[in-house]
Amino acid sequence: MTFPERYALRGDLLDFTADPGFAAPTGAQGVRYRPDHWLLVEGGRIAGVQADAPDASWAQVDHRGSLVMPGFIDTHVHSPQLDVIASYGTELLEWLNTYTFPAERRYADPEVAAAGAERFLDSLLAHGTTSAVVFPTVHKVSAEALFAGAEQRGMRLIAGKILMDRHAPDGLRDDVEQAERDCVDLVQRWHCRGRLAYALTVRFAPTSTSEQMHMAAALMKAYPGTYMQTHVAESRDEVRWVAELFPQSRSYLDVYHRHGLLNERAVLAHGIWLDDTDRVLLRETGAQIAHSPSSNLFLGSGLFDWLGAEGQGAHVTLATDVGGGTSLSMIRTLADAYKVQAMRGVKLTAYKALYGATRGAAQALHLADEIGSFDTGCHADVAVWDWTSTPLMQHRIGLAQDLHEKLFAWMTLGDERLLQAAYVAGTPRFRRA
Ligand SMILES: [Zn+2]
Repeated sequence: MTFPERYALRGDLLDFTADPGFAAPTGAQGVRYRPDHWLLVEGGRIAGVQADAPDASWAQVDHRGSLVMPGFIDTHVHSPQLDVIASYGTELLEWLNTYTFPAERRYADPEVAAAGAERFLDSLLAHGTTSAVVFPTVHKVSAEALFAGAEQRGMRLIAGKILMDRHAPDGLRDDVEQAERDCVDLVQRWHCRGRLAYALTVRFAPTSTSEQMHMAAALMKAYPGTYMQTHVAESRDEVRWVAELFPQSRSYLDVYHRHGLLNERAVLAHGIWLDDTDRVLLRETGAQIAHSPSSNLFLGSGLFDWLGAEGQGAHVTLATDVGGGTSLSMIRTLADAYKVQAMRGVKLTAYKALYGATRGAAQALHLADEIGSFDTGCHADVAVWDWTSTPLMQHRIGLAQDLHEKLFAWMTLGDERLLQAAYVAGTPRFRRA
């Protein structure tokens, strides 16, 4: 079935023009809610928004009564870890050895890698996530499979093969020379091809030698527009281990800084155990923290200080971190983010949370002219959601007195089963059966 090149999608349009911050809902800025409006899509991009029905030259796609938002952006997620999501009983370092590494070893097989990439990308779309920053495995074929699958679906994807040359089991280690050749090959084939970008992917400081991190930094310099993704300060045991491995560094974050890996395209997952000097370093380098609340709760890693990070000027985005995280749903992730902040005595509005999963992430990734909003010219990456999925939700949302109350109940009670349809660059890629 071919989809019209030019169409108008009708629904309750919600996106953001600026960061609502931690202001109370009543004072929030930057919220753009246009109920029962038409989103004009032409050639896969947003052509405008209007209140009145468009003329007959536009095909009509009727999602009246549904919540229509930009597709979610997940800034940290592991594609092979759908195989170990929801595994019992471990903390970070033991989790890696017990569950993650054995699962990732299988991705050396191109068939496993291809099937895994397909399953992962289709799952993202079925959760209303249209863009992501992704870790595959150390194997070149796992990155190849991910890029090929994302290209087929027209998705904005940032990924790269994992770099890991020590402290990992057989079958999961590379070495500096081979890793460099693989990265260069992958960059040349996939970076800036369509909507894809390459990320130098240091798993975390304990599994890369200094030499390997220097190599990654050199490649990031040599190939403009490449990203860097890694983990930082997730659990206390991990922080202690990094301090032993890099005694000359002031802090865990400083290890990456000394190796030249921090810049405005660096995406660091977690950042729970940082101090103020680290947070200032984040601001000065432009690196962002991908806050992963569901993973942090599940692995018992800690409670991220979002307000503290932003107070020092650091960018914070939101991520599922599956399989440490327990769902690919950004809605569930936002509900967990609220609870983590509540434990710190901070109240997270639905506005701030939804901004972080859309325009906020786009901005931190320097992709705001492409994704994250309904601004004219952006790619039409669109998720269409039901307002309710259960009698309880219907009852609760029916009682809501204003938009924030309605959205907050939606975010807290909802999940991926609310998703009706997902469009990527204007093309329908998911429809609920
Ligand atoms: Zn992770």
